[in-house]
Amino acid sequence: MADGADRGPVAGAAGGRAAAQAPEPAMWCDERFDFQATFLQCLAKHVPNIYSAEMDPLVEKQEEMVQAAILYPLECYLFGEDPDMFLEKLQQSGTSQLCGKVFKGGETTYSCRDCAVDPTCVLCIDCFQNSIHKNHRYKMHSSTGGGFCDCGDTEAWKAGPLCTKHEPGASSSPKENSECQLNEEIMEHSRRVFPSVIKYIVDMLIWEEEKELPEELTISREKVDSYYCVLFNDEHHSYDHVIYSLQRALGCELGEAQLHTTAIDKEGRRAVKAGHYASCQEAKEEIKRHSENVSQRPLHVEVLHADVMAHQKFALRLGSWLNKLMSYSSDFRQIFCQICLKEEAGSEKPCFISKLMLWDARLHKGARKVLHELIFSSFFMEMEYKKFFAVEFVKYYKALQKEYISDDHDRFLSVTALSVQMFTVPTLARHLIEEQNVITTITETLLEVLPEYLDKNDKFNFQGYSQDKLTRVYSVIYDLRYILVSKPTVWTDRLRERFLEGFVSFLRILTCMQGMEEIKRQIGQHIEVDPDWEAAITIQMQLKNILLMFQEWCASDEELLLRSYRECHKAVMRCSMNGRSREKTIFHLCGHTLESRPYRVSADPVSIHLPLSRTLAGLHVRLSKTGAISRLHEFVSPEEFQVELLVEYPLRCLVLVAQVAAEMWRRNGLSLISQVFYYQDVKCREEMYDKDIIMLQIGASLMDPNQFLLLILQRYELADAFKKIKPTKDQDLIKQYNVLIEEMLQILIYIVGERYVPGISNVTKEDVIMREIIHLLCIEPMAHSAITKSLPENENNETGLENVINKVATFKKPGVSGHGVYELKDECLKEFNMFFYHYTKTQHSKAEHTQKKRRKQENRDEALPPPPPPDFSPAFSNVVRILNCDVMMHILRTLLQRAVELETHLWTEAMIQMVLHLLSLGLLEEKQQLQKSPEEEVTFDFYHKATRMGSSALNAVNVLMLLEKLKRVPQLEAQKDTVNWILQMFDLVKRLREKSSLVTVGATSGSEATKGDESTQDKEKAERKRKAEAARLHRQKIMAQMSALQRNFIETHKLLYENTLEAQGKDDAIMEEESTSSAIDYSRIALGPKRGPSVIEKEVLTCILCQEEQEVKFESAAMVLSACVQKSTALTQNRSRILELSGDTLDPLFMHPDLPCGTHTGSCGHVMHAACWQKYFEAMQLNFRQRLHVEQIFDLENGEYLCPLCKSLCNTVIPIVPLQAQKINSEDAEAVAQILSLARWLEIVTVRISGYSVKNAKGEKQSLPPFTNKGTGNSTLEFHSILSFGVQSSAKYSSSIKEMLILFATTIYRVGLKVAPNEADSRIPMMTWSTCAFTIQCIENLLETEGKPLFGSLQNRQHSGLKALVQFAAAQRTTSPQLLIQKHLIRLLGVLLPNYKGEDTPSLLEVDMFHILVGAVLSFPSLYWEDAVDLQPSSVSSAYNHLYLFHLTTLAHIMQIVISSATESPTAHTSDNSEEAQSAQSFCREVCQYTSGCFSQDIPGWLVWDCVKKGIMPYLRCAALFFHYLLGVSPPEELLQVSEEGQFKALCSYLSLPTNLFVLFHEYWDTVNPLLQRWCTDPVVLSCLKGKSIAIRYPRKRNHLIELPEDYSCLLNQASQFRCPRSSDDEQKHPVLCLFCGAMLCSQNTCCQELVNGEELGACTSHALQCGAGVCMFLKIRECKVVLIEGKTRGCLYPAPYLDEYGETDPGLKRGNPLHLCQERYRKLHLLWQQHCIIEEIARSQETNQIFFGFNWQLL
Ligand SMILES: [Zn+2]
Ligand SMILES: [Zn+2]
Ligand SMILES: [Zn+2]
Ligand SMILES: [Zn+2]
Ligand SMILES: [Zn+2]
Ligand SMILES: [Zn+2]
Ligand SMILES: [Zn+2]
Repeated sequence: MADGADRGPVAGAAGGRAAAQAPEPAMWCDERFDFQATFLQCLAKHVPNIYSAEMDPLVEKQEEMVQAAILYPLECYLFGEDPDMFLEKLQQSGTSQLCGKVFKGGETTYSCRDCAVDPTCVLCIDCFQNSIHKNHRYKMHSSTGGGFCDCGDTEAWKAGPLCTKHEPGASSSPKENSECQLNEEIMEHSRRVFPSVIKYIVDMLIWEEEKELPEELTISREKVDSYYCVLFNDEHHSYDHVIYSLQRALGCELGEAQLHTTAIDKEGRRAVKAGHYASCQEAKEEIKRHSENVSQRPLHVEVLHADVMAHQKFALRLGSWLNKLMSYSSDFRQIFCQICLKEEAGSEKPCFISKLMLWDARLHKGARKVLHELIFSSFFMEMEYKKFFAVEFVKYYKALQKEYISDDHDRFLSVTALSVQMFTVPTLARHLIEEQNVITTITETLLEVLPEYLDKNDKFNFQGYSQDKLTRVYSVIYDLRYILVSKPTVWTDRLRERFLEGFVSFLRILTCMQGMEEIKRQIGQHIEVDPDWEAAITIQMQLKNILLMFQEWCASDEELLLRSYRECHKAVMRCSMNGRSREKTIFHLCGHTLESRPYRVSADPVSIHLPLSRTLAGLHVRLSKTGAISRLHEFVSPEEFQVELLVEYPLRCLVLVAQVAAEMWRRNGLSLISQVFYYQDVKCREEMYDKDIIMLQIGASLMDPNQFLLLILQRYELADAFKKIKPTKDQDLIKQYNVLIEEMLQILIYIVGERYVPGISNVTKEDVIMREIIHLLCIEPMAHSAITKSLPENENNETGLENVINKVATFKKPGVSGHGVYELKDECLKEFNMFFYHYTKTQHSKAEHTQKKRRKQENRDEALPPPPPPDFSPAFSNVVRILNCDVMMHILRTLLQRAVELETHLWTEAMIQMVLHLLSLGLLEEKQQLQKSPEEEVTFDFYHKATRMGSSALNAVNVLMLLEKLKRVPQLEAQKDTVNWILQMFDLVKRLREKSSLVTVGATSGSEATKGDESTQDKEKAERKRKAEAARLHRQKIMAQMSALQRNFIETHKLLYENTLEAQGKDDAIMEEESTSSAIDYSRIALGPKRGPSVIEKEVLTCILCQEEQEVKFESAAMVLSACVQKSTALTQNRSRILELSGDTLDPLFMHPDLPCGTHTGSCGHVMHAACWQKYFEAMQLNFRQRLHVEQIFDLENGEYLCPLCKSLCNTVIPIVPLQAQKINSEDAEAVAQILSLARWLEIVTVRISGYSVKNAKGEKQSLPPFTNKGTGNSTLEFHSILSFGVQSSAKYSSSIKEMLILFATTIYRVGLKVAPNEADSRIPMMTWSTCAFTIQCIENLLETEGKPLFGSLQNRQHSGLKALVQFAAAQRTTSPQLLIQKHLIRLLGVLLPNYKGEDTPSLLEVDMFHILVGAVLSFPSLYWEDAVDLQPSSVSSAYNHLYLFHLTTLAHIMQIVISSATESPTAHTSDNSEEAQSAQSFCREVCQYTSGCFSQDIPGWLVWDCVKKGIMPYLRCAALFFHYLLGVSPPEELLQVSEEGQFKALCSYLSLPTNLFVLFHEYWDTVNPLLQRWCTDPVVLSCLKGKSIAIRYPRKRNHLIELPEDYSCLLNQASQFRCPRSSDDEQKHPVLCLFCGAMLCSQNTCCQELVNGEELGACTSHALQCGAGVCMFLKIRECKVVLIEGKTRGCLYPAPYLDEYGETDPGLKRGNPLHLCQERYRKLHLLWQQHCIIEEIARSQETNQIFFGFNWQLL
């Protein structure tokens, strides 16, 4: 909204106006006037005029008029002086200590985990940066909008509530009169002005009449028939729907419809048509009709009278005016709040602010925003009034929530979203509970909005619920959480009563949930439709922390705890009354009986929702913890208690889980599986599964142990299973029994063994978390985020992980990829409990496997007995009795017996493991008790019971004997160590018993006695059996591995592929080494008479498609390499240069030395037959044509495909052309040198060229420019002389190779210039040379930045790609008309030849010399072409041609360097008098002559030499690469290593250069002299020397990705200050940083879209076209993600190079930990760019990650 910002000009305008309308301000100033009436008169007069053109408003004009006619006079009256000056003064006096900044969606908020009272307390970035929390454990998050900065709120922070900016006295302004209160007069005026203003705003906003205005506002005007048809936004209709409906209904253009729609989305409503009432009414009906066609609901349209519309608009303007005023003075705020809260005396009507709140859901978006901002800037800035506001808010809470639930706007647009601002303030919460009974209010609201989900039994049932509506209900639940977030430290009677009242009301909600959504086992048929289960589970998740908080609140006061326990117990009992009708039945087992009502989980209805029972369990452990349990009988009498009933429902739930595991419920579908999953999952288990276990522990502690176990057996429907062996043959049934037994044993283990709950034993919360972490890390080392996800979060989103993690684990840092992990400390391993109750089945077996493996590696036995558990607290001490009771012994003995008797189908290894675990627990318990107290006091007699014989014949052995036998069961080989451990424990306990009772008996354990009885025969038999079994197990294992392998085929395949690649690379390297070592004696000079021989190995390649081998030869069918050609700006020296997007008119022969944009050719190095590739490509085209609906990853039209082997994106193939071996006899060659000097060579070349031009001139008009015939006086030379130094016939390529040469050359041309393919275009050869030169430059650059040696360190793919590319470039000439090549060559030579210069020859400073070198060398053989005879230079001729061409370009390049560094000022004064420096000095003197003094003579020689030596390096390196790949001459050894000095010398030697480069000039002085003169007198050169223009410096700078700050919040800070350059609105922006150039862009926003070639492109996409020639890398700052994009249609996300302290990335800032730059990862991104692998990365990620398909990259 416009406010202070545009006051300047407006105030000026106001002056003039005020004079014209003088009476008004004067009138208002008069105290006798009725302000209200005058004010309204004024508005009635001006407002309709100002806002008359609603359809096409001139916003600035309107604003000007508002200021002049209304606001300026109003302010003058209010302040009594010039408003600007007055406000200036007020501003100076300092503002509130509260920051109060309101967050917009997407803004980053900060919270301090050390100091924030709860996670809703946040700071804005400014306050955070200036606060102490910057150095604490902070979290950053993206705001959803609507919250505000809590800086200054002392209740929100345990420490550091104020940032330095908001600290009193610390503000930048000098505060002389620190208490700048408004004077009484202004206060008085405010009290007169505000009521009228507020009343007007309220009246107009809630005005319902469409046609009429209030009487006071109609007086001065005739009513005219002028209406608007106004469209409102909603969340049901999409953008496109609205646009469509508008276009149809109003017949308007797309652009106009879009404009309307954007405005509606932003403001919430907009006039879409103006006119008479009838026509507007008609438009309204049309819009409704059309919108109904596209979606079910019609759009919301109203017809409003123009005046109504105008006043409503102005009311909002006044609202933002007030909003601005509020920020100036606390007095304004207070007066405003007082007026807003004032109730009409004797009236029931709500006050102003409540009226607005109640109307909120009916207001449009724009109005809501203004209203909420006003509340923030007034009420929320004054603590006292915030309380009053909160009271009003709670007063109307129910109504507001109901309105919100039926509304369709997002939550942050609703006034109900303000609850968090009030409810989380501890004092306010307390006040609201005590005075407003807010807990009851909220729960009653829930009870009133939820009944539509109640079934006939008054239980919830969410079948067919509306997701949206229920999500709205959740916000009420959230309010409950907010109000409970801080537990009171002091309880007053009133607080206690109110809280209890609220708790009882809350129990009513739980009562509706207890037993809801019952299910019944499906028998026979599978259920038809999976029932909805998400709603119930989601509510359970929402409630989890609220339930915990209620329990915590209750537990903080003993009285309260006991009373709430009673209430909760009553509620559970009420719910447990049904099913009472059935007759009790009796169940016997080993002399014990259980009387119970029959119930079967497998046949009767059961529910997993038991929040009441679980709350009771939670309160029970808290009773035990606080000791209040001793008073329990005062509140719940033992008769009432009925523990069997309490246990019943949780037990059923656990049995259900067991039966699901036994697959008894598989016909009930996936919904049940999901529910069972969540029941035990970390998101729910605390208030579901965990509490059910606790309830069973309560049962076990209070019931008779035998009865308890009988109940369990009965509910698990296993009573028969332990009575006798069932002679059933039904395998399924047996399996089912076995699983049920396992499940039951597990639960028994948990009941006895799981004691890590405060209250059940004497442990702390820390101990509990530590144990969770230990067990997680026993599975495998884990990342921080993975541990966090597996731990339950408390109401403050804390897991407590940080406090303990370092006690139990050590952190291991991550590498370049992956993440850091925690490893368990060795000393914690002893805590491992295989049957940890939070393990899933997979986790359990993984952990067991890991731990056994570890023990094996340490050469220890594999026994994993339970760790000694902590002692139960007194209330639970009876639980252990179930271990040594008769029924338990019966169970254990029966199972062991079955195992020993080898009744294989009736037991499983897992079962025996559990039996052993239970035995261990019993022995441990007895041992611990014996160690603590004297023997006679220990009544726990597990040893005794276990060694006693069974009563019946069946049980004629004791447990001890059974264990001995167990050792010899072959299937239980793996348990042998555990059995031994138990036997030792028996021994130990026995000795403890004996020692204390002083009985010493020969300690021969029964086990040894029985051992001897075994006959050797039996032993052998068992051994054979064991071996057979072991073999079978081994086979099974292998089979399992095989099938696992098959399942992971794709993964495996990938892996294999990667391995082979690596191996291949190694092999190749070795081969190369061998070939170079054999050539060791040869000369390692590439150019001139001394050139060495080409080293070529016979190339036999395998086609990746048909797997056949073929040797590469001129005459055979072509082999090709898959390749990708792309435009690239990777080397650019000038990013601001505008790139031409299409090259229709581009002349690519000369490359600018800025290297603004080149054409890069890369390859993945995979070889195919050309024919095989063509078949593959055609098949793919066919395939994709048939699947039109599939969005293509690649663009077949443009020849794109994925490499069949490695799936990288390619768009062409490079033909593999063999190198033509050349070898010269150096003696002959040196003889030639006598005749063929540079001068002579130049002469011959010149004559040849002019001969051509004469010859051609005969036929057509002269195509070549004439030569300046200077120095070519020797007419003895003839046109054909060039042939005299040797020719040979050109290589004859097979037609298939030729075809591929043309195809590839055309691709380079098409991609490089972005034009349509044209095989005949004259620029095809130019592009071939250009991509060859540019690719070499890129590779040289890469090797340098990576610090690798020039030769021998290229990746295999780079090596073979470059080799093929250079050979291709040499061969391409043969497929183009030679005349054309000659023409290009002559233009190139124009730069180098002293006596020739064409019209279009560029200046020396405007060309890249390496490009010229490559072009000239590759095109030079065309001079040997003789009519129709295709000749090429002989080896000797080539050697000289290469040498002289290279020397000429080198001279030119040295000159470029000297000129561009002439302006350099010497940095050091180390005078170096080397030979080189002296030559340089004398050279400079020569140059100086020709530059008419522009070139300073005073530059010291050593400096010039230094510049040249450094500057020429990249050029020499590129040239060496080029000639090496062209000629195959081995490079000197020094170039296989990295060394500065050695490298220069080696390069000079390889390239036949003197190391003192200036010697070249002296050698060729006569020839070079005219050239120098020409170069120096060039106007461009002169302008550069005069300092008027800047030439590129050498060496060129190596490009890097921009420097990023170490701390990620710096980037967030930058982003928060980002303003879109094109629009001034405050809508949410997505700032995105270009990592190439550092530009900050406004992404995904219509304001910054750009029209390129008739297409709308987003800011990023259009930036990428310029910055990276279509390929670019961005950082989405608010999301902390890197985006790679290519062209208009492709892109992918990539992890940002920022890691938290746990070595993990945080895409989307979901975890919110502080992030720091990881250099290695950033470097990886850099390489991705410089290696031109961005496109490849995108293609790969799109292939694996289908989810990004829907994204419209074009608009990024
Ligand atoms: Zn702030
Ligand atoms: Zn602050
Ligand atoms: Zn802090
Ligand atoms: Zn093939
Ligand atoms: Zn490949
Ligand atoms: Zn950029
Ligand atoms: Zn923008």
